[in-house]
Amino acid sequence: MNNIVDGKIVTVPEIATIEEIKDEIQDVKTFYLKFDNPEVEKNFKIKSGQFVMLTVFGAGESAISLPPSPENDRFHLSVRRVGKVTDALHALQVGDKVGIRGPFGNGFPFEEIKGKNIIYVAGGIGLIPLRSSIVHALQHRNEFGRIIVLLGARTPKDLMYQYNIEEWLKIPGFECYVTVDQPTDGWTGHTGFVNSLIDKANIPVENTVAFVCGPPVMFNSVINDLMKRGLKDDCIISTLERHMKCGIGKCQHCAIGRTLVCTDGPVYTYKQIKTLGEEI
Ligand SMILES: Cc1cc2nc3c(=O)[nH]c(=O)nc-3n(C[C@H](O)[C@H](O)[C@H](O)COP(=O)(O)OP(=O)(O)OC[C@H]3O[C@@H](n4cnc5c(N)ncnc54)[C@H](O)[C@@H]3O)c2cc1C
Repeated sequence: MNNIVDGKIVTVPEIATIEEIKDEIQDVKTFYLKFDNPEVEKNFKIKSGQFVMLTVFGAGESAISLPPSPENDRFHLSVRRVGKVTDALHALQVGDKVGIRGPFGNGFPFEEIKGKNIIYVAGGIGLIPLRSSIVHALQHRNEFGRIIVLLGARTPKDLMYQYNIEEWLKIPGFECYVTVDQPTDGWTGHTGFVNSLIDKANIPVENTVAFVCGPPVMFNSVINDLMKRGLKDDCIISTLERHMKCGIGKCQHCAIGRTLVCTDGPVYTYKQIKTLGEEI
């Protein structure tokens, strides 16, 4: 098999150099990367909702969501430290090398949701995969109705991408509601789980889709509340996280029933997720 097929790095990771490392929240860093091969750098095309396989040499490979299109910013990945590969990544320095394969996966269905209101519900680092979709929607503002972000985190210090939210709030019509589970001194905002924002924001139901991403406990209660409010299961979209190995539908490592999350997903409607017969 050729290594690069349709602009996709398929089998052998392409080498990239870490140009900058930014601390986001506790245990989450953003790594700004540049491919060593200028041809790869030029031809690497990203679709919102896709992911790459990131190699940390000597540690292994992990699936990581893609950022908004690099036309707006340098290519970067935000990664939470949870285990072997991500620990090793967090120990790297500017100038160190990593490997990248991809982009893989289906991406968000923007064509199908044109003209609709979009509600993004993100819990904690669930904003990482949703951010590229929010940026896409804001860049194509006239193709969508209301664009509402509901963001929840454990504490004010765990709120991701505050600097992005400040920029987005300057865009007319963008709505954002934020909550924390545990307020700390000086917090004057909303307190409570992220689903409590559904009522606060008085979200629309007609002609509306919701993108939901966050830990399983949050995901299930948000879905319940959205459906109680009247949203249909095919209007709720999420990304599934499964252990990935090959990323190209060969090894079956990420199979859930008949679906392979690496190629059929990671983006699914809740209607599809329900048919997979597995707890999120
Ligand atoms: C499509 C996709 C996109 C992702 N995007 C991001 C991202 O943008 N940023 C980010 O920080 N993480 C993201 N993840 C999760 C990331 O892939 C895992 O956290 C990472 O692979 C963990 O590797 P590790 O070797 O550090 O941890 P390990 O040592 O393998 O595991 C540590 C713990 O995390 C659990 N775990 C590991 N991988 C997964 C997984 N894929 N799903 C659920 N639980 C897992 C393990 O069961 C274990 O409890 C994404 C996952 C997928 C499938």
